[in-house]
Amino acid sequence: MARDYYEILGVSRNADKEEIKRAYRKLARKYHPDVNKEEGAEERFKEINRAYEVLSEPEVRARYDRFGEAGVSSGAGAGGPGFGDFGDMGFADIFESFFTGFAGGGGQRRSRGGPTRGDDLRLDLKLDFREAIFGGEKEIRIGHLETCNTCGGTGAKPGTRPQSCSTCNGAGQVRRATRTPFGSFTQVSVCPTCNGTGQVIEEKCDTCGGQGQKQETKKLKITVPAGVDNGTRLRVSSEGDAGQRGGPPGDLYVYLFVNEDAEFRREGINILSEIKISYLQAILGCRLEVNTVDGPTELTIPPGTQPNTVLTLENKGVPKLGNPVMRGDHLITIAIDIPTKLTAEERELLEKLAKIKGDRTGKGGLEGFLGGFFHK
Ligand SMILES: [Zn+2]
Ligand SMILES: [Zn+2]
Repeated sequence: MARDYYEILGVSRNADKEEIKRAYRKLARKYHPDVNKEEGAEERFKEINRAYEVLSEPEVRARYDRFGEAGVSSGAGAGGPGFGDFGDMGFADIFESFFTGFAGGGGQRRSRGGPTRGDDLRLDLKLDFREAIFGGEKEIRIGHLETCNTCGGTGAKPGTRPQSCSTCNGAGQVRRATRTPFGSFTQVSVCPTCNGTGQVIEEKCDTCGGQGQKQETKKLKITVPAGVDNGTRLRVSSEGDAGQRGGPPGDLYVYLFVNEDAEFRREGINILSEIKISYLQAILGCRLEVNTVDGPTELTIPPGTQPNTVLTLENKGVPKLGNPVMRGDHLITIAIDIPTKLTAEERELLEKLAKIKGDRTGKGGLEGFLGGFFHK
């Protein structure tokens, strides 16, 4: 069931462009809906096209190689189980805001007695500010229903098997004819003996008590892609509840919540922070060390910097989700510290300066000098 694009096209991971093209052409001819009327051919055709779309573009292919589906998905849509390239990790392959509601899942519910897809599950995961920015592996613990190993999901004691329900003859429904003065009605309802499954278990499996499933706690490693934010939802395929009677498992949806940082804020893919410099640094300009999410870096304060000036450190922001090579910027707002106390020496120097300034501008005193710099 792996939806690895290389596997879909039947080529190796280091196949060259020509090889991919040949494989694609061959398969596309075979599964083209105009030619192939077999069931599932159209699905297959779509898959082949998607795989070729990704692998034929060197840049997109490189992203897929590094990040799997997350690197090439534009958001919703791309369903399907996990990818082999991340080993035994349940790789989270979809991200989107959870305010848009569930894209996949749901749909085919109960088909009485037949295979039933397991339920989707939700897990809330807190991330540190930097974890959300750079992504990484997270270990999570989930509780979900797994198919019982003892009975293989039938719910019957090993060596026995579920019997066809004698009340409904395996149909799962019972019909009852009701006669009324207005005529007779047939009422169809779920069989009370087998609850609609069409089967009864005479000797229940000891391990699961006849349920065919057991609640298990499982540790999972998931890969959080770089650039996620509050409200990003990751889908980990097939880690929801197990399906019943051979139905596929549901998916696990991991909802991300990002902790605030004492120093940095985030606005989309930009990071915002504030620094305070002295009035002298503002007037004369300087170079100083500031913190970024990548660590300390040097920032140049140009001479004559005004309060609330925003300086930009390019490419020090948040990696773009799905295309982490692109990053936002780090915007630093400059606050200027005007001293409330001066030493005698400082005062003397400033007054001297103010006098010079006053002579030139005609305005006297310290106030005139400072006013010239600090007011627009
Ligand atoms: Zn069992
Ligand atoms: Zn029945």
